[in-house]
Amino acid sequence: MSLTLKIILGMILGFITGSVINFFSLNNNFYINTYFIEGIFEIIGSIFISSLKLMVVPLVFFSLSTGVASFDKEKKISLIAFKTLLLYLFTTALAISLGLIIAIFVSPGSGLDLVTLTQFNAPEAPSLKSVIIDIFPTNPVQAMAEGKMLQIIVFSIFFGIALRLTKDINKNLFEIMTNITNVIMKMVFILINFAPIGVFCLLASLFAIQGFDVLGNLAEYFFLVIFVLLIHGLVVYPSLLYFFTRINPYWFFGKLRPLMIFAFSTSSSNATMPVTLKTVTEDIGVDKKIASFTIPLGATINMDGTAIMQGVATVFIANAYNIDLSTLDYLMVILTATLASIGTAGVPGVGLIMLAMVLSQVGLPTEGIALILGVDRILDMLRTVVNVTGDSTVSTIVASSEKAFNNNK
Ligand code: ASP
Repeated sequence: MSLTLKIILGMILGFITGSVINFFSLNNNFYINTYFIEGIFEIIGSIFISSLKLMVVPLVFFSLSTGVASFDKEKKISLIAFKTLLLYLFTTALAISLGLIIAIFVSPGSGLDLVTLTQFNAPEAPSLKSVIIDIFPTNPVQAMAEGKMLQIIVFSIFFGIALRLTKDINKNLFEIMTNITNVIMKMVFILINFAPIGVFCLLASLFAIQGFDVLGNLAEYFFLVIFVLLIHGLVVYPSLLYFFTRINPYWFFGKLRPLMIFAFSTSSSNATMPVTLKTVTEDIGVDKKIASFTIPLGATINMDGTAIMQGVATVFIANAYNIDLSTLDYLMVILTATLASIGTAGVPGVGLIMLAMVLSQVGLPTEGIALILGVDRILDMLRTVVNVTGDSTVSTIVASSEKAFNNNK
């Protein structure tokens, strides 16, 4: 049986096991809860996520700095960075516009009973100024210890540029760093072999706790977000990919399948990043030099699935509170959501923090987030799949524009 098939099987079995436990209320049974849900499933699931996260910081630093250092002198790194940034921002703006337009058309949340509202303490949104300043680290070790991805990216690029300029006298260092990158990639490969068990445990524990009875009057919102996610994933990305690269989207999505399951079960583009890098370079054939920059950056700033949720949620909450938004408000939503995605890392649930920024920007009550909280955990999984698919698509488009592919792929 191929590894991909095993991972898919792990996902299906995990979902079934969790749902059965939940359906028969076995999660209230002391032994099942203690030994399985909060025991085996949670322990193995947490170790699996921790091991993935363990790879992130060393992988970004070594692969990105050696990637930058190995660029030919005449290649313009800044041009590649510019193209990548532009594409990430463009796809995010497109995603939120799509979410808004379809939601305005369907108008979910009209006539909702607000009496049932629970309290929600909206997280505080950082200002744009502090987000920009925060991209630049004061201490590389601290940035790495705290896992501040944009800061690590800035330091790694800077280091890589200096390494390139001193390559003649620093040949050994460059070779050692390249070898370390290969070793870390090998660690990622080893970890992926444990994915079927990890994925099983993560999904079993989640669905054992999270039943589908939370849907209630959120069904319209829930399915609308999924519908827009599907359109973005199955229509927008394949079209962009084919338009820019002429690569067969069917082949491309086939290669991405295991990656999507990783994203789905971890709900974190950051934790999935090592697997995204492996998939894009090994399976799609994107040159490591390009992917080592585009993938970590994408895991941090490109969240199209999250943007879609924000678009639909904004309209939903406005309707629920009977507040009319003007065209200018909608434009503000697009702008804020796109900018907010830059400063927030791809970890579970961060979408809600971004939504709080968007809502307060257009004067909608942030308590409205309480309305959609019940179904957010499952939507988080699905939108993370779209987020990593977007990272992979943009990386492939950038690589294609630079003709930076491994020929044998
Ligand atoms: N979990 C998402 C990610 O890591 C972010 C979010 O939508 O909350 O990409």
